[in-house]
Amino acid sequence: MKNIEFYFKFGGNETFRLFLPMSVVEEFLQCFEMEVVSSDHKEYSVQSFQKASVGIKTKLSSFVNQYSNVRPELNRLNTQVKNLSDNQYFVLLPSEPNGSKLKLYFEIYLDYLNKGYDKEEALILVEKEVSRMWDGKKVLQKYDFYIPRTDKRVVLGNRNKDARCCRFCKKGLSEGVMFTKIAHAIPEALGNKTLILGDECDECNRYFGDEIEPALVQYLDLYRATNGIKGKKGHPKVVFDNCHIQYTENGTFIIVNDETALKKAGDEFTLVLKKQQNISPKKIYKALCKITLSTLHEEDISSLTDTVRWLRFNEFSFATLPKIMIGVTENEFFEEPRITNYIRIEECCDLPFIASELRVGSLIFLYMIPFSDRDVNSFSDDEEYQVFLDVFDSLNRLDGKFLSFVEITEEYNIKERVLNLKKR
Ligand SMILES: [Zn+2]
Repeated sequence: MKNIEFYFKFGGNETFRLFLPMSVVEEFLQCFEMEVVSSDHKEYSVQSFQKASVGIKTKLSSFVNQYSNVRPELNRLNTQVKNLSDNQYFVLLPSEPNGSKLKLYFEIYLDYLNKGYDKEEALILVEKEVSRMWDGKKVLQKYDFYIPRTDKRVVLGNRNKDARCCRFCKKGLSEGVMFTKIAHAIPEALGNKTLILGDECDECNRYFGDEIEPALVQYLDLYRATNGIKGKKGHPKVVFDNCHIQYTENGTFIIVNDETALKKAGDEFTLVLKKQQNISPKKIYKALCKITLSTLHEEDISSLTDTVRWLRFNEFSFATLPKIMIGVTENEFFEEPRITNYIRIEECCDLPFIASELRVGSLIFLYMIPFSDRDVNSFSDDEEYQVFLDVFDSLNRLDGKFLSFVEITEEYNIKERVLNLKKR
C-alpha cells in the first residue's frame, strides 16, 4: 500500500519525517488544523503553520495511542509536539521543502511567529530577510547554512553530561574535566541568553572567558553602550578617563567630567574618549571563531582539528590570517545576537570550507574559519580573499553606512577614540 509522507519542523534544526498508509491519513490530519477540500478525491487543505494547542496535543495523543503499535515512530512525534509550549508554532508539510531558499523561508518564518509577531507582520519581515540572503544567490549555490534557533533556550551538543566530550580540549568526565558551568555559545555580554554549549568543559570555559571573549566584548563597548545591547547585567556602562556612557531606555546618556572632551561644530559634537586600551584583532578574530565552533554541528567540526589547536592552545600563531569584514545595516536591528554558519557543499574549491555571519544590533561580521583540513587556500592574500567576498556578495549590496575590514594583527594600544554625535 502507498505511504504518504509528512514533514514536521519544530524550529532550529528539529525536524521529523513520517510515512503513513493512505487509510489513516484523513484520521491523522483531523488532529490538526485542516479542511477537507473534496472527500471523494481525498483532497485536504492543511495549514502549514500549526499551533500546538491543547486540542491538537490531545487529538494527536489519542491517534498515537491507537496506531503506535504499527508505527512506533509516532511516539517520537507525539513527544516532540507535547514538549512544545502551548500554542507554540510548528510546521507541517506534505514533504521536505525542496531547496535552501524554501527551507530558509520556513525556518525564519517559524522563528518570527514564535517570537510573537502576527502572521502578516512576520511575512513582511521574512520576505525582507529571505530576499536579502537570497540576493547573494552565489552563496546558496556553494554553501549549506545553519542558523541556531533563538526563540527558546537551546543546549547545543550533547545534553547528557556523562557522555560529553569537550569540543576544544577533547576531554570528557573520565579524563578529569568537569561540565558544571553554563557555557554560552555566544558571549552573554552581546545579549545571548538562549544559546548554550553543552560540550565545553569548565577549564576551556574559563580560558575563553578570561583570555579570548573580552577582546570582542570590549571592542564593541561603545557600540553596545550607544545602541542599548543588553548584557549580563542589563545595559552596559562604559567608563573612560574623561567621561562615561550609559544607555537608558530613553536613549544614550553621557556624563562628561572634562569639558574639553566635547567639541562642538554647528549641530555636531565630537567626543574624544580617553583611555589606554589594548585592542587585539587576533583575539577578536578568535572570539568570533569560537562562536562558530560552539554553534556548528558536531560532524562539521571534524575537519577543524588545527583550528581548535589555534583557538584553544595558541598553536600556529605565526600564520597570517584572513580579514574580518564588518558592515552596518540601516534597517535591521537584532536585539539578540544571531549566528549563521555556512558550510561549503562542493569539495576542493577556492572558497573556505566554513564561514559565518554574526549579527549584533545592526552590525554584521563576516569571517571565515581558518586552518580547516578541507581548505587549500589560506585566504590571507587579497586575491584569494576577493574570491570569498565575491561569493558573499549580498553584503556588498547592503544599504550600509560603512563597510570596513579588520586586518588580523597583534595587539596594539589606543589612547583615544572619537565619537561623532548629532543633535536630534
Ligand atoms: Zn575543554
